[in-house]
Amino acid sequence: MTCILQLGPLSERFNRTLAAEHEVLPIWQADAEALLAEHAQRIEVVVTSARFGCSAALIERLPRLRAICSFGVGYDPIDVAAARTRGIPVSNTPDVLNDCVADLAFGLLIDCARQMSRADRFVRDGNWGRAQLPLGHRVSGKRLGILGLGRIGAAIARRSSGFEMQVRYHNRRPLAGCDYAYEASLHELARWSDFLIVACPGGENTRNLVDRPVMDALGSQGVLINVSRGSVIDEPALVSALQDGRLGGAGLDVYVHEPQVPPALLEMPNVVLLPHIGSATEETRLAMEELLFDNLRSFLERGEMLTAV
Ligand code: NAP
Repeated sequence: MTCILQLGPLSERFNRTLAAEHEVLPIWQADAEALLAEHAQRIEVVVTSARFGCSAALIERLPRLRAICSFGVGYDPIDVAAARTRGIPVSNTPDVLNDCVADLAFGLLIDCARQMSRADRFVRDGNWGRAQLPLGHRVSGKRLGILGLGRIGAAIARRSSGFEMQVRYHNRRPLAGCDYAYEASLHELARWSDFLIVACPGGENTRNLVDRPVMDALGSQGVLINVSRGSVIDEPALVSALQDGRLGGAGLDVYVHEPQVPPALLEMPNVVLLPHIGSATEETRLAMEELLFDNLRSFLERGEMLTAV
C-alpha cells in the first residue's frame, strides 16, 4: 500500500476510493505538525487540488516523495519548480473540464449582457409591474476578446460561433494555424472588444495582467469576464473602474482572496458574482476524479503520469 498524504477533502466518493486502495493520511483531519513529525519519512505521494496547493516547504519535508497528483487544471499554488528540482512529477486534470468552464464563461457573458441575475432578483423582489428594469445589451454579433486561447479559451471561442461573434485573442505567442485574429497587445485587444474573457493561467507570470489601462481600454460599455484566477485581474482597480463607470460590467467566478469578495462588488447591479464553480458539475467533477486516479495508477504501475504539467 502506498502512503499518501492528502492535503484537503475532495468528494466523499473520491476520499472513500482513495482510502480503500491506499494508506491515506488526511492532513486536514489531524494536527498537521504531529502528523508530519510521525509520518513524513514514509509519504510517497501527495494528493492535492488547485485549491489546496503544495508548497516548497512541504515538498522539502517529505524525503521519499515520488509524485504529486492534483485535482484541477490550474497548478499555480503548487511549487512545481521545487518538485522538478527533486525530479518529482506533478499531474493535473486538463481537458475534461474545458466544456463546463467554457459553458460557465459564456453563461456569465450572457448574464452580464442580458441582466439575467438582476432580472431574477427584480422578479423575486416583487418589482415586476411596479418598476422598470433598464434595457440590457445584445450578445449576438458582438466582438469577443479572449485572453488565453488555450484549451478552455478555444472551447469558449467555439461557443461564440453560434452567436455570430467576431473573435480575437491574446496569448504570449500567436497560435500556428489558428483562424482567429491574434492581438499582440492585450491593451489593443481590450480596446477592440465588447466582451473580454480571461482564460489564461494564474500565478506570478500573469499577476495583474488586466490592469487599469486594460480596463479603461475595454471601456464604459465593455464587459470583463474572469473564469481563470483572481490574481490575473488587479482587483482594487476593477472595483474602482466599475465604481467610476469606466468599465461597463463584470462577470466573475474567481477572486484574489477566495472566498472573500470585495464588498463594493456586492452592491453593484452590473456585476455577476459566482463562487468559483467553473468545473462544478456532477459529470465534470467525476471525470476529474477519474483522471486523477488514472494518473496515480499509471504512475504507481509504470512510473508515468498521463497528464503531467
Ligand atoms: P491552457 O490550455 O494552458 O491555456 C492557457 C492559455 O493562456 C494559453 O493559450 C497560453 O498561451 C495563455 N497564456 C499563458 N500565459 C500567458 C500570459 N502571460 N499572457 C497571455 N497569455 C498567456 O490552460 P487551460 O486548461 O485552458 O486553463 C486555463 C486556466 O483556467 C487554468 O490555469 C485555471 O487557472 C483556470 N481554470 C479555472 C476554472 C474555474 O473553476 N473557474 C476551472 C478550470 C481552469 P501562451 O503560452 O502562448 O501564452
